[in-house]
Amino acid sequence: MHADPEAVAQAAMTLPDLDEAIAMCAACPRLVAWREEQAQVKVARFRTETYWGRPVPGYGDPDARMLLVGLAPAAHGGNRTGRVFTGDASGDFLWRGMHALGLADRGESCRADDGLALQSVRVAAAVRCAPPANRPTSAEQSTCRPYLVREMQLLPELRVIVALGGVGWDAVLRSLRAMGHATPRPKPRFGHGAEVEIGPYRLIGSYHPSQQNTFTGRLTRPMLEDVLARGAGLAGIRTHIPEPDARVP
Ligand code: SF4
Repeated sequence: MHADPEAVAQAAMTLPDLDEAIAMCAACPRLVAWREEQAQVKVARFRTETYWGRPVPGYGDPDARMLLVGLAPAAHGGNRTGRVFTGDASGDFLWRGMHALGLADRGESCRADDGLALQSVRVAAAVRCAPPANRPTSAEQSTCRPYLVREMQLLPELRVIVALGGVGWDAVLRSLRAMGHATPRPKPRFGHGAEVEIGPYRLIGSYHPSQQNTFTGRLTRPMLEDVLARGAGLAGIRTHIPEPDARVP
């Protein structure tokens, strides 16, 4: 375990090195305690499972042209399975949309060893440990940011970043600034479908596929697919466009 994300992130020369460094991180005492407590206490429906209980690295195509950036692993989702957006309702919603567009080879992801393959896409989070109430502090977001900076630096084909929610949006803007790219002032506002060009990248906003948004209809499948298709198009990734009557609201 280590507690210096800036140093270990910059020392990582490949994505597997970075993934390994992230999985060993213990820089945020509150989040270390929470992720491990959740892994011990569990919830009834997963009580027989062995939880991952560690930071969750990014996942996907090493030649990704598009990066999705979420908030953080869910206590009983990524913190249980060890893979981002795997084993929870947010992931179910995201993968169905990704699969409909041909960006993922399946429309569900329950286990880290299921062989899920992404086409030209990688998925990561602003904060790599599950936070209480899904709310990392500003300090925790800052501490974790070097990993996102390094992840983007290690994706040479990256052109489009889709921020899934406002925390992801802020993390990407701050990371791009840390990489030396001039970001607009005042800060571009997050919104579903918001877009801004920064250096060689296009940043696009999407509401997060949390149950809070999907159960209330704030984010529908067509809304998510429209943003993903827009990003893929800008990144030069070929997608299937679902027929309107085949789309699930
Ligand atoms: S949130 Fe990020 S910086 Fe903090 S302990 Fe987890 S991996 Fe390390």
